[in-house]
Amino acid sequence: MLETDVIVVGAGPAGSMSAIQLRNYGLTVLVLEEHSTIGKPLHCSGLVTPRTLESAGLDHSLVLNEIKGAEIFVGDVKPLVLGNDVTRALVIDRVAFDKYLANQAVLNGAQLNLGHRVTHIENTPSGTTVVHANQKTFSSRILFGCDGWRSKVSSHLGNTKKDLIWCYGGEGVVPNHPKDTVRVYLDAEIAPNWFGWTIPIDNKRIRIGIGTTFGSPERKPIHLFNKLLKQYPTHFEGLNITSLSGGFIPLYTPQVIESRNSLLIGDAASHAKPTSGGGIYTALEGAKTAAETAYQALSSTQAGSIQLNSYHSAWSKTLGKELVRGSELRKVFMDLQSNNQLPTVINTLSIKPLKKMVHNYGDIDYPSALVNPILRAASAMIGPALQLSKMSRASLPLKRFVSQLASQK
Ligand SMILES: Cc1cc2nc3c(=O)[nH]c(=O)nc-3n(C[C@H](O)[C@H](O)[C@H](O)COP(=O)(O)OP(=O)(O)OC[C@H]3O[C@@H](n4cnc5c(N)ncnc54)[C@H](O)[C@@H]3O)c2cc1C
Repeated sequence: MLETDVIVVGAGPAGSMSAIQLRNYGLTVLVLEEHSTIGKPLHCSGLVTPRTLESAGLDHSLVLNEIKGAEIFVGDVKPLVLGNDVTRALVIDRVAFDKYLANQAVLNGAQLNLGHRVTHIENTPSGTTVVHANQKTFSSRILFGCDGWRSKVSSHLGNTKKDLIWCYGGEGVVPNHPKDTVRVYLDAEIAPNWFGWTIPIDNKRIRIGIGTTFGSPERKPIHLFNKLLKQYPTHFEGLNITSLSGGFIPLYTPQVIESRNSLLIGDAASHAKPTSGGGIYTALEGAKTAAETAYQALSSTQAGSIQLNSYHSAWSKTLGKELVRGSELRKVFMDLQSNNQLPTVINTLSIKPLKKMVHNYGDIDYPSALVNPILRAASAMIGPALQLSKMSRASLPLKRFVSQLASQK
């Protein structure tokens, strides 16, 4: 039986970045990936911040397009148009991105076994973990669960609860889409509890998708996807869809992410951002925190008495904190959407000073950075002490929006 310091299950961004970092610390690493090709099948729109590329150690060679703005639609309200000449996000070739990271891991000395689906995990009395994959057994002192939203390692740690966004979408060619602007559709009947989106890849091609929480059959994302196309006919006129697929995003929910000798990273840890569903950046950063934890544990203890319990607290001090805030913002969003208050919010955010705040503080990776400036601006607009009782009837939804943000802050 092959024995390594760390077995990493899954070779997505979380797994490959974990392997790169673990090798940088001089640890032996075996990566087990169920598929025979890295990055496929693809379930991702590949929209990331420039910070994500830096975190991956990548230049712009895999960037297909730069995004400078967003148009946000709800019903027939005038859309909120955001953006200026600053690049806010990048559209990447996600398959090539995953391949690049896996290749770096191998170049760093990690062993990568493709076509190895982990089916069974056991803890031995001596403290090692035995993993079964492809009718073989492998053992390690530490196990990293980087195996995505359906994580076997997460189940092994006893997790059962997930907040999944069920998505459907793909790619297509459309004649009239702005090249540097994403479109977001917030209508409750099109994307209950989530949103629809289009992301331009170049002058003609777009990535298009819709997501929702689980619900009744008519809430199936494939039906919602068709509704989206019908509701905004001018946006999708002449659309030629070239690929379609479904997928799941495990939004942040508190989970057990560490045990005596196992850690969960990325989607396996339900670390996708509750506001946007993006999970690549959190996966990369989680991998770095996890690798450091593993290195410290292995260098300061003997086999059988590994202490991995600093991972959760280290993560909570950094991006974990932002994920908690993000899930509070999501509650505000869901409340506004289900109460049909989003048109008013769109109108409110179109007011110049608030829009400026969004431009100055809006950050896809750290959405909570916008809460305090918005509260300050809203407070200045509607009275220093938020004298909500004196607001006109028309401002009531704004009052609700501001009070909700203030209470969730
Ligand atoms: C429709 C959609 C659009 C998205 N768009 C974006 C976006 O624009 N930007 C963004 O940042 N995020 C986006 N995401 C989220 C993003 O794709 C994930 O958060 C990200 O891939 C997480 O990386 P990961 O390494 O944790 O998991 P994954 O990328 O899912 O990798 C897990 C790996 O583990 C392997 N695996 C699973 N089970 C086993 C097993 N038992 N044995 C061995 N191997 C196994 C899988 O084959 C896979 O290779 C989107 C997700 C969806 C569904």
